[in-house]
Amino acid sequence: MKDKQNILIIGAGLCGSLLALRLGQRGYNVNVYEMRPDLRTVEISAGRSINLALSDRGFKAMKLVGIEDKVRELCIPMNGRMLHDVEGNMVMAPYSGRDHEYINSISRGLLNALLMDEAEKHENVKFHFNKKCKSVDFEKTTALFEDHNSKDEFVEDADIIIATDGAGSVMRQSYFLGKKFLFSFSQDWLSHGYKELSFHPTENGDYKTYKNALHIWGRDSFMLIALPNLDGSFTVTLFLSYEDGEYNFGNLTTPEKVIEFFQKYFKDALELMPNLVDDFFTNPTSPLGTVKCSPWHYKGNTLLMGDAAHAVVPFYGQGMNASFEDVTIFDKVLDEDHDDWETVFKVYEQNRKQDTDAIADLSMDNFHEMKGHVNKAIFREKRNLEMALEKNFPNDYSSKYSLVTFQENIGYREAMLRGRAQDKAILNMLADKIIDLNDDLKTNLEKVKTVTEEILEDDMVAKNLKH
Ligand code: FAD
Repeated sequence: MKDKQNILIIGAGLCGSLLALRLGQRGYNVNVYEMRPDLRTVEISAGRSINLALSDRGFKAMKLVGIEDKVRELCIPMNGRMLHDVEGNMVMAPYSGRDHEYINSISRGLLNALLMDEAEKHENVKFHFNKKCKSVDFEKTTALFEDHNSKDEFVEDADIIIATDGAGSVMRQSYFLGKKFLFSFSQDWLSHGYKELSFHPTENGDYKTYKNALHIWGRDSFMLIALPNLDGSFTVTLFLSYEDGEYNFGNLTTPEKVIEFFQKYFKDALELMPNLVDDFFTNPTSPLGTVKCSPWHYKGNTLLMGDAAHAVVPFYGQGMNASFEDVTIFDKVLDEDHDDWETVFKVYEQNRKQDTDAIADLSMDNFHEMKGHVNKAIFREKRNLEMALEKNFPNDYSSKYSLVTFQENIGYREAMLRGRAQDKAILNMLADKIIDLNDDLKTNLEKVKTVTEEILEDDMVAKNLKH
């Protein structure tokens, strides 16, 4: 592929800004059109997750573009889940038995701004703000935009267009509505929505609760989580059904009812939230969903990337990480020196789709795990065993969570298959008392490995039989 070609990117979010930086480094002429104002100069209102968990797949992409150290400066390590029960007791459940494996809380705005700053250092990369894409003509490789201020419409063309315009992608919509090729698309909404709340810092600017953890109040059919920010505050997110259950977003309509709900289920959190009612009635309630589609590209003209191609529910903390990993994988395909963009797009999608489908499914699994399972005795026993295995046999064992979150050199699909088999093996053996946590750890490791391999083999046989 020749450099100096003109690439148009729609959306200067996390994926689009990283992609612009990488393609700029590779020598392409890159123009990025973003519908919002420049977030480095204008305060953009809350409502869209203020902070996120960044982990190893995301860092791999940061290394690729040479900004890992700058990104680390923005991070707060979270070593585990701090589980809060209804009585207000807290217990820390580490994410891994290996000390160097943890996730990081990072501000969406600061990270996005850094990526744009770095991209703009390349004179061949330009950002255009307040320009909303209205549709894409994927046959002509042109996009129609509207200027937010003047309301003028204009058309831009390019050699290729890559849409990183998020879960509600306009280009994906153009694919769907255009009916010019066989385009499959599914969008599954969760019955739960989310609302962002906050713990403010103490008067001295300190954190009101333990800083280096992702706090979780799991209550089976709903949950609250909190991630730390650099200024001493926490961003707190309530995940709750729109309609079902005694308390839901539909019936929490008065300050009294909201306080009653928090008093009953999140008493210790409520003590840290004198601002609860304000936050609750100011901040929007937003939906959560999974988007899958294919193909992601139209010939060699246009390509979907990031949430535009594969939005997931946020319960594995992997949506941004997966979008960053898209750029890593795309870059690798560019290294292969294919002759034309169509082959690049095809190979990229072939390499990538099964992994983004896997993280979509894993994210739904984790929704149930975080709400309820983390509190159940057998799941805690499993976690304890896995922690001990990771600590004592760091090269021999990784839990499903570690495979997904910290093993950036294997795909999500491989992590899912192995991780699920391990979970099944351990849970069955604990239930059937084939594993005793007091037994020698090496013996337990061998049992887990043997049964995991048997399950993986059975799965393979079952799959082959089906075909
Ligand atoms: P986006 O970040 O959505 O960016 C899209 C950009 O395109 C935006 O700037 C938007 O303004 C712009 N745009 C949209 N439409 C147009 C248009 N028509 N014209 C021009 N520009 C347009 N991921 C994690 O890895 N870890 C987490 O802990 C995590 N937590 C999350 C918590 C919540 C509550 C949610 C909702 C998501 C979370 N995610 C997390 C997922 C993460 O936010 C997304 O996966 C990530 O933002 C995807 O990046 P993107 O650039 O593809 O899309």
